[in-house]
Amino acid sequence: MTQQSAFEYLSHGQIPFFRLPIAPAAAGIPHGTGAVLLGVPYDGGTTYRPGARLAPFEVRRVSALLQGYHPSHRISVFDRLGAVDGGNVVFPPFDAAAVRSRVEGAVGTVVASGAVPFVVGGDHSLALPALRAVAWHGPVAVVHVDAHLDTSGPETWGEPFHHGTPFRHALEEGLIATGQLHQVGVRGPWASARDAEPGAAHGARVHTMEDVAERGIAAIAAEIRHAVGNRPVYLSFDVDAVDPAFAPGTGTPIPGGLTSREALQLVRDLAGVALVGMDVVEVCPPLDHADLTSHLAAHLLFEGLALVALAVPGATCGGEVMGSP
Ligand code: MN
Ligand code: MN
Repeated sequence: MTQQSAFEYLSHGQIPFFRLPIAPAAAGIPHGTGAVLLGVPYDGGTTYRPGARLAPFEVRRVSALLQGYHPSHRISVFDRLGAVDGGNVVFPPFDAAAVRSRVEGAVGTVVASGAVPFVVGGDHSLALPALRAVAWHGPVAVVHVDAHLDTSGPETWGEPFHHGTPFRHALEEGLIATGQLHQVGVRGPWASARDAEPGAAHGARVHTMEDVAERGIAAIAAEIRHAVGNRPVYLSFDVDAVDPAFAPGTGTPIPGGLTSREALQLVRDLAGVALVGMDVVEVCPPLDHADLTSHLAAHLLFEGLALVALAVPGATCGGEVMGSP
């Protein structure tokens, strides 16, 4: 279950993530699969400019450019990992409750198989059903990279479920271990000084862009690594954490964010944590330029897949002695 060659990939005209084998999650997860990429073409949770439902298709297309060897970690990610494209989660796109139910079910199928789910959104409301499924491990640590806190309630829209609320629910439902919501990249104006209260009540740690600028992303990644310890970690990456100059294709952009380099380093520097799930959300291809944001999303996913590959215990596959550095 490693990558197809460029020739093989081009010959059949299909466009799976990273040129990986296609194995629809609904048909059962193949034995030995280490990670499953799931597209979720849904943006009914967006409050401003929609279009994120198209991201799974665009991220698949550009992800074909990525090779499998990670030169910093010095591993062949896909040889080691056994990753597949699990297809898209499907649902009536105007039925938000059905979307949550189907996403929780699909992610839960992956988790139950022992593989690690990678959710390619879609908008950030999808993090809630993904976390509900991943909390099969018990309450998890969450690394939430975002310009926004996403702990709002129904006060603005009269509706408790949208892309501004997933972590409020996750905290209230006990899906996140106390003190283990780590938010990075937060910036921009809030509705009021009380915006941080829902997170603070559960011990959330907020690393603002001022913190990133002052301390550097490596120091923040190291602090998070230390804080999560051996806990299972879910990584939720809202691409609007990245500056709109680097990631213009997103529905609610906020100036003053991470560089692409900082974003990739943050994920890379989480090496050693027990990653049990990841999402990359809020990529909005209709607003993108030159596929910049889709390319970034693909590379963020690759960095996340590498974290899981690093944790694969020793075995031999594809000529590589697994477990070597
Ligand atoms: Mn955001
Ligand atoms: Mn968000």
